[in-house]
Amino acid sequence: ASNNKFFVGGNWKCNGTKDSISKLVSDLNSAKLEADVDVVVSPPFVYIDQVKSSLTDRIEISAQNSWVGKGGAFTGEISVEQLKDLGCKWVILGHSERRHVIGEDDQFIGKKAAYALSEGLGVIACIGEKLEEREAGKTFDVCFKQLKAFADAVPSWENIVIAYEPVWAIGTGKVATPLQAQEVHAAVRDWLKTNVSADVASATRIIYGGSVNGGNSAELAKQEDIDGFLVGGASLKGPEFATIVNSVT
Ligand code: PEP
Repeated sequence: ASNNKFFVGGNWKCNGTKDSISKLVSDLNSAKLEADVDVVVSPPFVYIDQVKSSLTDRIEISAQNSWVGKGGAFTGEISVEQLKDLGCKWVILGHSERRHVIGEDDQFIGKKAAYALSEGLGVIACIGEKLEEREAGKTFDVCFKQLKAFADAVPSWENIVIAYEPVWAIGTGKVATPLQAQEVHAAVRDWLKTNVSADVASATRIIYGGSVNGGNSAELAKQEDIDGFLVGGASLKGPEFATIVNSVT
């Protein structure tokens, strides 16, 4: 970890019921969390209000997506204004499932980030290569291209956390090794230094996501450029999520 404040997000994806979420919230409320960590959870839209009214203020709330501009006649979408109204502080954008399952492209994601930031939401900006891209030696090219789309769109990096999430590691149980993750995190920081500024490069949190769990987070957290985690599956279990939060070094 660098000197930046550790950041751990839990992405609940499209999981849960009122009952299971009420149990998860109560586990999180009673968990002991290290003080020096930003902790965020990202429930499905329909449960954000329930979570906001029952979860400790110690943990902030993120959405898993947002509409690209001001709300209005966009059937089925959720606006940044509505997310703020519910008390969300963050939004996850560019998650691999939205890129590769739903088909969002770099430019659309960049525009969403710019709009969310302009309205005061923090952005968890996800990047990451697919397995065939890694095997073809294109990991850096892919990550830098996705990063550039964010950089071209956003006016400031103050409210952005970058999540490096190799697609082959998401939901597969195949976690990147600490060295594999560190290599990309260092390259991302270097890219920011060259293409944005040295200040942004050192101050921006770069978190890792992809099969992080209570058993592997401590080793990953020791890496110089890993400033936290974005956690999917393991964030649905309160005690395990707390273990990951507390793996801050
Ligand atoms: C994610 O969806 O952001 C993620 C990292 O999922 P998992 O931890 O389940 O691999």
